[in-house]
Amino acid sequence: MQKGTINVQTENIFPIIKKFLYSDTEIFVRELVSNAVDASQKLMTLSAAGEAKGDFSDLKVKVILDTKKKTLTIRDNGIGMTSEEVNKYINEVAFSGAEEFLEKYKDKDPKSIIGHFGLGFYSSFMVSDKVQIQTKSYKPKSSPVQWESNGNPEYELTEIKKDDRGTDIVLHISKDSKEFLEENRIREILNKYCKFLPVEVEFGTKQESIDDPKGKKDKDGNIEKVSIEVPNIINNTQPAWIKKPVDLKDEDYKSFYNELYPFTEDPLFHIHLNVDYPFNLTGILYFPRLKNQIELQKNKIQLYSNQVFITDSVENIVPEFLTLLHGVIDSPDIPLNVSRSYLQSDSNVRKISNHITKKVADKLSGMFKKDREDFEKKWDDIQVFIQYGILTDEKFNEKVKSFNLLKNTDGKYFTTEEYKDKVKTAQTDKNDKLVYLYTHDADEHHALIKNAKDKGYDVLILDGPLASHYITKAEQEMGVSFARVDADTIDNIIAKEETIPSKLSKEQEDSLQPIFEKTVEKEKFVIQVESLSETEKPVLITQSEFMRRMKEQQAVGGGMNMMGNLPEMYNLVVNSNHPLTSKIVESKGKKQTALAKQAVDLALLSHGLLKGKNLSEFVERSFELIKS
Ligand code: ADP
Repeated sequence: MQKGTINVQTENIFPIIKKFLYSDTEIFVRELVSNAVDASQKLMTLSAAGEAKGDFSDLKVKVILDTKKKTLTIRDNGIGMTSEEVNKYINEVAFSGAEEFLEKYKDKDPKSIIGHFGLGFYSSFMVSDKVQIQTKSYKPKSSPVQWESNGNPEYELTEIKKDDRGTDIVLHISKDSKEFLEENRIREILNKYCKFLPVEVEFGTKQESIDDPKGKKDKDGNIEKVSIEVPNIINNTQPAWIKKPVDLKDEDYKSFYNELYPFTEDPLFHIHLNVDYPFNLTGILYFPRLKNQIELQKNKIQLYSNQVFITDSVENIVPEFLTLLHGVIDSPDIPLNVSRSYLQSDSNVRKISNHITKKVADKLSGMFKKDREDFEKKWDDIQVFIQYGILTDEKFNEKVKSFNLLKNTDGKYFTTEEYKDKVKTAQTDKNDKLVYLYTHDADEHHALIKNAKDKGYDVLILDGPLASHYITKAEQEMGVSFARVDADTIDNIIAKEETIPSKLSKEQEDSLQPIFEKTVEKEKFVIQVESLSETEKPVLITQSEFMRRMKEQQAVGGGMNMMGNLPEMYNLVVNSNHPLTSKIVESKGKKQTALAKQAVDLALLSHGLLKGKNLSEFVERSFELIKS
């Protein structure tokens, strides 16, 4: 037997390991299982090189829970270690990662540092009173040994009996880590970190239904099914992202998506990433059907390093807008043992991030060029994503310019160039300013849209949570103004040379002000009398484009929050040329008030602004009016 002290410069490393990693103790499972997988793969490599002889088709990692003995064992039949190797790999160098880590982060908040510290094997002491390594090397005639330590940091190395090649890591789980003696907890952790490891990982058993081996038949002559217990393999060793795109069909991509996110709607399309120079990266990114709740759909990308799950928060690794995508990124080149803020400045991470952005833009561009009709079909679902990218990533913005589409209320799609050509003549105002009209809801603005179209104008549909931020950006990029159809009267939005004279005298117009003031809340409405065309409505409700957009931007965040909560303000435009307006001017007393009120309420109603008490009163008054 050999006794010794683990060779570390930092004294009392164990309490520090515990303290630093406490919030994330479960990662010990990932560390030990991936060590076991490495040991198995090393053997395959040696075998392929002719340096190890034998049948290695049964390589497997087993995770064994013994609640009586209070142990958790990670067993592999991989390469194993000789006693010299235990000395070299466990006693001497294992802490190099830890020391470096402690040196670098001794002043930092441990929470700002993510999971993988290169502590590997020693992370087992976070949850164990005692750890044993029982190992036998693949090398012929090597004698099996056991290394044992309770983290003093003294260890004992003894010769033991062990027939099978490979390594058992036996953890004697400590009292305060009892959760790791629960089957469900271990299964959950294995599912999280080990689901796509390249070597089979077995944990417990499961029931499987098979044809009766005795061939017993039921009354219809079919072979009966019997239930048997089989080893439970928790991982898929051949996940889609490591395969070649040529070997995968659309269904394969879809079923992998379902494996990643069970019970979710199929994605729209995917991008298979595969780079080996100047960095290593594989993965599949999926475009989900983006509903308008973008926050909910963020942060679903899973990051792997050689098929080992690392994290599902990839912000700082990919640009923000890409976090709307789903799927897997696997790269051993993303440094995992550093703080999040450091990641952004890491050159590999920047390269990876640029590469992904480019791939995504290329994919979209390719789809647009190849089958524009199909691209248009998908547009409504990807619009938010593209807008997000345009708003937050200049490189992406540049790349998508040529296929960023605008959709009008007739359901037609245009590139920004095409659209400019379409509306340029009709929608340039007297000051040579080109105005794009839009609505966020074609139903709500039905009358206004019809009115605009009757004048030969076109109306775009711009909806979704980012619309108003996007519009502000689009105005700068395209050098045009956007106005929602209810931003003003249509003749003010796109002002032409000719003006319409008013049918009312100055005095008559002035008399309208006090009449209409009585009909609405003063603080919310500004009353304006304007000479519009006779065919325009007698009363219109409009809301300044600028104010409304500010308010919307404030609501999604990123707007001018320092302005406090902006009040809801409207304009009440009275059309001096409408026959009803003349009638109101000429009527007196109660009749005048009722007519004005009725006209205003109808306008409010068509904007969905008539509610509660005001709505009830309107209904009452309407009955009265039609009765008489
Ligand atoms: P790392 O895996 O980052 O090198 P670890 O502390 O996890 O660091 O492990 C140190 C070394 O111990 C490994 O590099 C490997 O040589 C050896 N080792 C650990 N676990 C096993 C195992 N299950 N089988 C064979 N060798 C192992």
